[in-house]
Amino acid sequence: MIAYLATGGTIASIPAAEGSGAVPTLTGADLLASVPGIGDVGAVEVHQMMQRPSASFTLADVRTVLRTAQEVVDAGASGVVVSQGTDTIEEVAYLLDLLWDRPEPIVVTGAMRHPGLPGADGPANLSASFQVASSLSARDLGVLVVLNDEIHAARFVHKSNIAAPDTFGSPGFGPLGYVVESTPRLRLLVSRNPALSLGPDIPPVALWRMVLGDDGRALSKLQTLGYEGAVIEGAGGGHVSADTVPFLRDLVTEMPVVLASRTGSGEMLRSTYQYSGSEMELLDAGLISAGSLDGLKARLLLTVLISAGASREEIEREFALR
Ligand code: ASP
Repeated sequence: MIAYLATGGTIASIPAAEGSGAVPTLTGADLLASVPGIGDVGAVEVHQMMQRPSASFTLADVRTVLRTAQEVVDAGASGVVVSQGTDTIEEVAYLLDLLWDRPEPIVVTGAMRHPGLPGADGPANLSASFQVASSLSARDLGVLVVLNDEIHAARFVHKSNIAAPDTFGSPGFGPLGYVVESTPRLRLLVSRNPALSLGPDIPPVALWRMVLGDDGRALSKLQTLGYEGAVIEGAGGGHVSADTVPFLRDLVTEMPVVLASRTGSGEMLRSTYQYSGSEMELLDAGLISAGSLDGLKARLLLTVLISAGASREEIEREFALR
């Protein structure tokens, strides 16, 4: 039995009237009915979790999805499919992956073309997702993202194009596998770390991107605004302007600050440059390296760790692991 948790997004969106824009409307049951042969994968239990565009998801919503996934698996489901808007799939899937503590797969999917458009991709993506969720080969891989017949690890997946059906990729790594002739072919494995717990209070964590000519003044306001942690998306291997450095030195005395790269792929530098604003200076000042996590994913990991009361050393250790 596969549990299907529907949440809205383009896959469920249709225009209310001729000429108007699409809004999430179709239920999970409607979507299943649009997929020929879906019954072949076995029994499906549908849970309509919400009906939203994915930019309006909160971290608490993700926790609700997680708890439902845990409940349905404990009740006997051998896999879970989640459909949602593609705009935040990489964040939702990664957060679920950090917290998912079962061998059964969670497969997250969506669509780039809504059901009213020629070439709507929702039915094909749902069909492929159910095939992956019901496959023994997907066990112990954590949370997977399946669209366009590609199977991506939540850890690496990234939305790279506004409208293209092949928008999802895993920069620097590639997909774990493909769905071919209705069969999941998983060709790479991804190592899993022990699941983390999200504490009851979800702390606000800021993501600040270093831009040309920025003097970093916004950084001095973060604590006043109530942020409890920050991720800095530096340029290249982890670089900021020299003007920004004093603000970052102050910030690390106020909250944990993680240094990521705005490039979107690759491993953060640690020991290459030593000028003012370089990665060596920032790490020396107390920023924590994001390793190979991009800013969006580093922010989620930091949020989870702060929520669980992790010390600076524990935060550093977790980032080194992932
Ligand atoms: N607006 C949509 C969303 O909910 C986009 C999509 O689903 O592709 O993220």
